[in-house]
Amino acid sequence: MATDTQAKVQGYSFLISETDPQDIFIPEDLTDEHCQFARSADEFVDQEIMSDIAALEKLDRKLLTAKVKKAGEAGLFMIEIPEAYGGLGLDLISQLVVTERIGRSGGFSVAYGVQTGIGTEPILFFGTDEQKEKYLPKLATGEWIGAYGLTEPGSGSDALTARTTAMLSEDGKHYVLNGSKCFISNGGIADLFTIFAQVDGDKFTGFLVEKDMPGFSVGAEEEKMGIKTSSTTMLTMENVKVPVENIVGEIGKGYKIALNILNLGRLKLGVGAVGAMKDALKEALGYGAQRKQFQTRLVDFPLLQQKIARMVCATYACESMCYRTAGVINEGIQEASADAATMFDNHLATLEEFSGECAINKAYDSECLDMVVDEALQIHGGYGFIEEYSIARQYRDARIARIYEGTNEINRLFITGNLLKRATAGRLPLAAEMQKISQSALGALESDQANDGPLADVREAVFRAKQLFLFVSGVVTEKFMSDMKTFNSQQESIAWLAEMIMEIYALESAQLRAVKRIEADDDSASLHEDVARFQLAESTARLEQNAKDLIEGHFTGESRDANLDIVRQLSRWPAANRVELGRRLAAAAVAAEKYPFEVVG
Ligand SMILES: Cc1cc2nc3c(=O)[nH]c(=O)nc-3n(C[C@H](O)[C@H](O)[C@H](O)COP(=O)(O)OP(=O)(O)OC[C@H]3O[C@@H](n4cnc5c(N)ncnc54)[C@H](O)[C@@H]3O)c2cc1C
Repeated sequence: MATDTQAKVQGYSFLISETDPQDIFIPEDLTDEHCQFARSADEFVDQEIMSDIAALEKLDRKLLTAKVKKAGEAGLFMIEIPEAYGGLGLDLISQLVVTERIGRSGGFSVAYGVQTGIGTEPILFFGTDEQKEKYLPKLATGEWIGAYGLTEPGSGSDALTARTTAMLSEDGKHYVLNGSKCFISNGGIADLFTIFAQVDGDKFTGFLVEKDMPGFSVGAEEEKMGIKTSSTTMLTMENVKVPVENIVGEIGKGYKIALNILNLGRLKLGVGAVGAMKDALKEALGYGAQRKQFQTRLVDFPLLQQKIARMVCATYACESMCYRTAGVINEGIQEASADAATMFDNHLATLEEFSGECAINKAYDSECLDMVVDEALQIHGGYGFIEEYSIARQYRDARIARIYEGTNEINRLFITGNLLKRATAGRLPLAAEMQKISQSALGALESDQANDGPLADVREAVFRAKQLFLFVSGVVTEKFMSDMKTFNSQQESIAWLAEMIMEIYALESAQLRAVKRIEADDDSASLHEDVARFQLAESTARLEQNAKDLIEGHFTGESRDANLDIVRQLSRWPAANRVELGRRLAAAAVAAEKYPFEVVG
């Protein structure tokens, strides 16, 4: 296996190479300026959102609009928008630290995410100069609110089959839009909508539609189980005349917008989930420290400490993955920005390169968030079920993250499908690595790296986890080599492979961050070591189960036994005592009264 320092980091290259911890971006690398942004966002959430949360949760469009405008005035929308269009033109990391802090604001974080993401990015990446000049300054300040209309009653996951139509008017000056969109976030408060419609019946195309255009109407608010602060509505278009200059991108190329915009959105969703996890953990720690049963504080019960440790560990793994991914994308974007003429195209190419990692962050982090809010509620006992305690809202707010920005099922199919597509196209030497392992004497398989240094045994386990993935994916895909159509119907296997990919990325990101902190002589180095070992225990159990399921699903008799034997040989993991590790991690969280690895003070 090569190291990623030898070869440039590519999408998915973590699966076939080893990474030097010094080469990844971790939360502890945030600059003072990043931390200042995070603190400003925190202040905004406390002063403007949490102080009014009861009223906001009743979904008062006027109040929500006022809060969105205030966020605009506070400069929270302009971070990524270039200076030429009224923004600050800052790096992706600055945007992500703010997105993370806003992530704890539930429904408001949806309004924020749409404004800075799908409401703005179609214009930012695909708009004409005129469109950018006209709309971006307004979106940057919050003078205008944006929204994105892709989903329709008949097309959700299968979004490109939308039925909304766009016909060119006789004078050639307008497209006339007819159709409806559903579940549109910010629908009831937005001024500008990116709407997708089929030109001449089959050319999927994006249009910029202003709310006052005749024939455009916004439906009633959906009554949702969570994110109640956010506005979600139907949109109806009856003969809406949209000027031809409001086409975003090219006619028939709307899929490029729809698919590319999702990449960054998925990473942002992941980092927002990290913010929500930290918040739920803090809530659980606060409650658990003051509530006593059997004359004992809840946080002193080992059984609850194990839950706290899992929550801390999941947050650490997700946070490590998000900032690692952000680091490589940010680097690509900075390089791409050198040439103004090709800047936006190159940004998109960078996002496409790491689309797999973005999808991993979306699916893995949203599921960790669900585990965290569920356990945080459980620590509250019956009080967790009572609306007076904010954990009930946090629990409800979390659930949507597994559904939008592509459901987690669609993301799983994408993670594996995208990898195999790249391998087939020769973008990643996956097949060669699969072959190496199937031909090798397993005992000879060892990492190229020296077998010492901090967490060397965990690093070795990460190496084995990758070998396990390469072996299992190799033997399973080989069976379908001549018939990929049949393989595509093996959705369970595609999803299990995706789970292995996600787990490897999570485990390795946690291990690399921990080593980087140990090498930096961090005061909490031993806690970083503990959390990496705890993640090892969590990830390897799941990896092994996925590997076994994959073999059992596709082999019988002797080949099944032989393959399972190899799975067992590769699944020799170092010991990780979850009792001791869990108690130490929980003790640190209880003492800190929050996520104990928080970087921003
Ligand atoms: C609160 C909220 C806000 C939203 N905001 C927006 C927005 O601002 N703009 C916008 O355009 N959309 C928005 N959406 C829509 C959202 O993106 C869709 O709900 C989502 O893509 C899923 O589509 P669907 O609801 O039609 O479910 P379906 O596509 O019908 O899926 C139902 C189930 O089937 C599974 N499934 C579907 N296809 C497959 C497959 N090929 N293989 C295996 N399983 C499959 C799904 O994973 C899911 O579990 C929002 C939705 C909600 C609820």
